[in-house]
Amino acid sequence: MQFTGRRRKLTVHPQNELYGHCLQLYGQPPLENISLSEFETFAVERLKLLKTVENLGVSFVKMSEQYSKKLHAEISAGPSEYEKRRKDHISHFILRLAYCQTEDLRRWFIQQEMDLFRHRFTDLLPKDLLSMYHFTRISSRYWKRLMLISTFALVQVPFQDALDLVRTRKVFLQGGYAYIPHQDIVTIVLNDFRTRLSKALALTARSLPAVQSDERLQPLLNHLSHAYVGQDYSIQKNIGKVSLEQIDALSAKSFPLCMRQLHKALRDSHHLRHGGRMQYGLFLKGIGLTLEQALQFWRSEFIRGKVDADKFDKAYAYSIRHMFGKEGKRTDYTPYSCMKVILSNPPSQGDYHGCPFRHSDPELLKQKLQSYKLSPSGIIQILDLVKGMHYQLACQKYFELTHNIEDAGFSLNHPNQYFMESQKLLSGGKDIKKEVEIVQPQPNTTQAEEEMGDLDSYFLDE
Ligand code: SF4
Repeated sequence: MQFTGRRRKLTVHPQNELYGHCLQLYGQPPLENISLSEFETFAVERLKLLKTVENLGVSFVKMSEQYSKKLHAEISAGPSEYEKRRKDHISHFILRLAYCQTEDLRRWFIQQEMDLFRHRFTDLLPKDLLSMYHFTRISSRYWKRLMLISTFALVQVPFQDALDLVRTRKVFLQGGYAYIPHQDIVTIVLNDFRTRLSKALALTARSLPAVQSDERLQPLLNHLSHAYVGQDYSIQKNIGKVSLEQIDALSAKSFPLCMRQLHKALRDSHHLRHGGRMQYGLFLKGIGLTLEQALQFWRSEFIRGKVDADKFDKAYAYSIRHMFGKEGKRTDYTPYSCMKVILSNPPSQGDYHGCPFRHSDPELLKQKLQSYKLSPSGIIQILDLVKGMHYQLACQKYFELTHNIEDAGFSLNHPNQYFMESQKLLSGGKDIKKEVEIVQPQPNTTQAEEEMGDLDSYFLDE
């Protein structure tokens, strides 16, 4: 793929062949020129779609009628069939670049792409399956022959490629071949899809240094892999509305578990290491603490511990002013999103930052939830979600249980979103937002990241 500042109008579609089928196997990367703004839009929309796939997969039984109906509605919207397929193709490859970087990212990406693929595959009509058979090369290894008996499709594969189905006696066997009905072939195709995608991501990761040397793409890709689809909580609508006396009560009622844990650790030990101060300090700023309140809050807590007032003023006050954009490059720093907390800077011994659903030992998490008086069945549901690596959904379940509601009614992406939704609910606010606006990567991301690096260094006292 090549990138230009401006979109070039294509008079012919040299990739028409690539989009000859509604179900894509992403064998070839896109070769056309696209603008950077289209690159960003496609990437954010794909990410949003994959997050919907993840949410639906947990809220409903996968492939159930309701699940399929909702997912179908998400995918169907769009302009022409050609544009839809083109976007699907290009956006898949953009996210490959962003999500090949770590094991966690790869695992998440493969899982969502597989669920999406399975949904699309099972939506295929037998005639589409037949055209796909002629159209793709994947078929040659697995599908020796495809037969259509009336509208019923059977696929002939070497029996060793269908051992799961042979074991469960779901297929007709003859001469070393298994004859598989259309609805069961998905098992085989999905295995193949996973293997191919996993290899492709490993290959992409190897060529990443070359892509990252492009200064236009590197910040964009980093942003995407830490991105969330939601509001930017650096804009403080309720600035000054929270008093310091309220924080203890708010931490129990309206803080997500990550911030509740940080608050407790700060109150208990009168200190937090730099990762915790960054995460918690920016969150507090996001819920509306003014600079003066923040200075007073951190100062009063720290001087109860080993730090005297003089040391606090010299070593810590500057960094808090910096966080509020009053020192250094005067950047207004943004509170961390869940993706950032979950994916970057994992806590080590003595740290309290991070996401408890991602970073805590399940047994410790269980004890913590028990100490917060969550019901045993609720704790089991949360631990199941954690086991499936659905950390934000586990947190959403924690929200529902602690607020005694059936359905949170929003898709959690940000600790400050958790706080705002909780406050809205507790104050009787009626219109809990279902959708939040998409935040496009900011053009000055590189600068912001550099400055965040600066801020980190001010906090590095341990
Ligand atoms: Fe915090 Fe997000 Fe983890 Fe919830 S999912 S505990 S809000 S980081």
